[in-house]
Amino acid sequence: MKYQFLDLAAANEPYMEELQEAACNVIKSGRYLRGEQTNLLEQEIAGLCEAKYCVAVSNGLDALRLILRAYIELGVLHRDDHVIVPANTYIASVLAISDNGMTPCLCDARSDTMNMDSSLIENLITPAVTAIMPVHLYGTPCWDEELMAIAKRYDLKIIEDNAQGIGAKSNVVGINGTSTTGGLGHASAISFYPTKNLGALGDAGAVVTNDEQLAGAVRAIANYGSDTRYHNIYMGLNCRIDEIQAAMLRVKLRYLNVENMRRHEAAQAYDQYITNPLVNKPDIFGNMIQIWHQYVIRVEKRDQMRDYLEKNGVMTDIHYATPPHRQPCYRRFQSYKLPVTNDIADHAISLPIGHPITADDARQIANIINGFKG
Ligand SMILES: *Cc1c(COP(=O)(O)O)cnc(C)c1O
Repeated sequence: MKYQFLDLAAANEPYMEELQEAACNVIKSGRYLRGEQTNLLEQEIAGLCEAKYCVAVSNGLDALRLILRAYIELGVLHRDDHVIVPANTYIASVLAISDNGMTPCLCDARSDTMNMDSSLIENLITPAVTAIMPVHLYGTPCWDEELMAIAKRYDLKIIEDNAQGIGAKSNVVGINGTSTTGGLGHASAISFYPTKNLGALGDAGAVVTNDEQLAGAVRAIANYGSDTRYHNIYMGLNCRIDEIQAAMLRVKLRYLNVENMRRHEAAQAYDQYITNPLVNKPDIFGNMIQIWHQYVIRVEKRDQMRDYLEKNGVMTDIHYATPPHRQPCYRRFQSYKLPVTNDIADHAISLPIGHPITADDARQIANIINGFKG
C-alpha cells in the first residue's frame, strides 16, 4: 500500500534515540509513578494550554470522567444532572457522562465545522442541565460567543473534550481570556492515545483547569481519593499516568508544533488540489488554528470512493461510522433527530494526514481523488 492511513512506528521513528534515552532514564531512576517526569509534563501541558493546573492521568476517558466526578464530589455538579454534548463525537465523550450517573443531551452538528451547533444548544436547556461539553473534533476548535453566553446565562460548567485539539486556537477568547483549546472553559481533558496529535506509546491523558480546587480533587480521586498518604477523603480510583509515558510525551511535546505544522501543510494541499465536485472538503477557517487531527471529506458514494482509493493505494478511515446514538449501548437515543450528525456518519472519509504524510503526498492523493468518477 502506497499511502497507509497511519503508520505509528514510522511516526515515532524520528524520535527513537531521544525516546530510548528518556525511557532508560526512568528505568534507572527507580521512580515509576508520580515522579519528576509527571510533574514536568504537567507544567508543560498547563503552559501549552495557557492554564494554571494540569493533572496527568491514565487516559482521555478517565480525564473526562475525573472532571465530572470531581465536580460531583465538590458539590458543584450532581449525579442526576444533564450534560449537553455533541452527537458527532467519539463515544468516549458521552461515556464519561453516563459513567457518572449523569444524562447526556446530544446536540447536533453544524455542517461547516462538523462540531456542535451552538444555535441548537438553547433548545436543549432544562433545569437539569448543569454542564456543557464542547468537543474540538478533528482538531477544529468548538467555541463561539453563543456557547459562552448560554453557559453564563444558565450558569453551566464548560468542560472541553480536547482529546483531538491539543495546540489548536479559537478565534474567540474563552472565559479565561485565552484562546488555546483546553484553556477556554472551566476544565478540559486531553487524550495522549498513540494516534492523537501528541501520542504516548500507550495510554495517557490529562486534565487541565484554572480551578485550583478542581485540580486538587481530580488529583486526589485519581490516586484512590487520598489527599495525603494513607488519608482518603474520596472513594477514589487509580487513574495515574506512568513515568515512562510522561517521559515519552515530554520528548514528543518538543516536536508537537512541527508535527501540527506538517498536518496543516498537508490539509492546505488537500484543500488546494482536491477539485473533484463529488467531494465536500472540510473548511479551513482562516481566523482560527485547526490542528487537523483528521482531514474529513464527505462523499455521497462513500463506499465506492473508499474502494477506489484503496485500489489506487490510498488507505482511509471513517470517524465515525456509527455515532454514539446509533450504538447498541445507547439504544435509548436511536430515534433522536440528528440530521447533520447522521449525514456526517454516512458520508465522512478521513484521508491520511498523520505522520509521515507530507504536502506533496497530499497533492498526489488529491490527484487520485480527482480521478474518481462516482
Ligand atoms: C480519543 C478520544 C477520547 C478518549 O481518549 P482515550 O485516551 O482513548 O481514553 C475522548 N474523546 C475524544 C473526542 C477522543 O477522540
